[in-house]
Amino acid sequence: KNKKVTVLGLGVSGLASAKLLFAAGAKVTVWDELEKERLFSRISQLPDGVKVICGEPIDISGANLIVASPGIPPDLQPILLAEEKKIPVISELELGYQYLSGQKVIALTGTNGKTTTVSLIGKILSGRPVKVCGNIGKPLCEVIPDTLEKDIICLEVSSFQLEKIIEFRPDIAIFLNFAPDHLDRYSRIEDYIKAKARIFENQKKEDAMVLNADDYVVVNLGRRGKAKPYFFSKKQVLQEGIFTRGEYIVARFKGKEERIIKTDDFQLKGEHNIENVLCAILCGIVAEIDIDIIVEEVRNFKPLPHRIEEIAVISSVRFINDSKATNVAAVIAALVSFNKPIILIAGGKDKGEDYSTLIPYLKEKCKALILFGEAADIIGSMVREVIGVSKVSDLAQAVNLAYALAETDDIVLLSPACSSFDQFTSYKERGEVFKREVMKMKERLHGKEFNHIHSS
Ligand code: ADP
Repeated sequence: KNKKVTVLGLGVSGLASAKLLFAAGAKVTVWDELEKERLFSRISQLPDGVKVICGEPIDISGANLIVASPGIPPDLQPILLAEEKKIPVISELELGYQYLSGQKVIALTGTNGKTTTVSLIGKILSGRPVKVCGNIGKPLCEVIPDTLEKDIICLEVSSFQLEKIIEFRPDIAIFLNFAPDHLDRYSRIEDYIKAKARIFENQKKEDAMVLNADDYVVVNLGRRGKAKPYFFSKKQVLQEGIFTRGEYIVARFKGKEERIIKTDDFQLKGEHNIENVLCAILCGIVAEIDIDIIVEEVRNFKPLPHRIEEIAVISSVRFINDSKATNVAAVIAALVSFNKPIILIAGGKDKGEDYSTLIPYLKEKCKALILFGEAADIIGSMVREVIGVSKVSDLAQAVNLAYALAETDDIVLLSPACSSFDQFTSYKERGEVFKREVMKMKERLHGKEFNHIHSS
């Protein structure tokens, strides 16, 4: 109250931070690098009395507190200045956390599968008053005003949010997996690991960690945590924890083993989703949810759009939209999910990853690679030796070329390995454009078939 707070970045989380702070009586200034005209709809949602500075430099020297949105790079001039002047800089996650009043907090991080797994955990907990929020699209600060004491806060948290926490302490901290990503933001991979590891930083021994026993980065970080560790694995039989044995997911605690569900008895498909399901089941068990409820929710859970989503079958060619695959690890997860030849469409905004790690999978799984967007040449130069590469300018061309190359039973997979911001506003828009182009082609072809039947 009455503190001068500057919110950097007017995206969804900046907007939610500013509103929450203003309602609490702070003197709020928001800043964004974009011009006011481009932020009109966001600015119009701010309460009167919030000062807006957009498209020009900001002087933060009078502020008592800075709230940095996840998209704000850590070396932005106002952040560096704040650090020099010892003005605290926190993330929207930390701000929201400081407004909680003892609610139970479950927080999940990882490189891939966060949204899927957090959504499933939300369903598993749905018999209790649970609020699923965070990176999933609804910032914690937006949820705070109607949060009750008995609510459970179930959060998807990103490394960008974890970078700037102070007190944030989840009762259950979940680390799903780790793979290289965001190397455009982190010059060293260690910095990305360090940011993610902060999820455990303030935990005490009465808290819990849910850890992927197959991921050595996760195991290593867990070993340093103070909270009680619980493990899941799809590769090993564990002394204690959740794992797969034959065709079953099995729980073993205190020496007692119990079959939970068959690995083909849920709608989430692919090895990577077994990892997500194992993780969600373990979280449910740690949160003391009945096994019967957990099993029912796992069984009923529908895969989310833009993640290995089948959108059409045209003359026995399957078209799959995996627009959310914004790094190499996610593309590999998609490639190994199929056992038919794949025509892969990839590209977008480069984040500095080593695309040559795709090589063995391209060799084994793909018959052609179609590249588009800013990263097309970079990817092409790293993998050209093992696969035929074509470069196109947009998704419409990519879809047409993919179909031209396809034979019966092939798979056309959009799994870009890059973020979408070179040509689209989000992975969602990219996925929608892909779907539209595929549907357009389907209609065109069906029209042709129809004409053909009539003319013959
Ligand atoms: P996130 O929120 O971490 O981006 P999503 O559930 O939205 O995770 O999935 C993002 C991408 O990662 C999709 O392409 C999806 O198929 C893939 N994916 C999901 N779970 C995993 C996993 N456990 N390991 C590797 N890739 C995964």
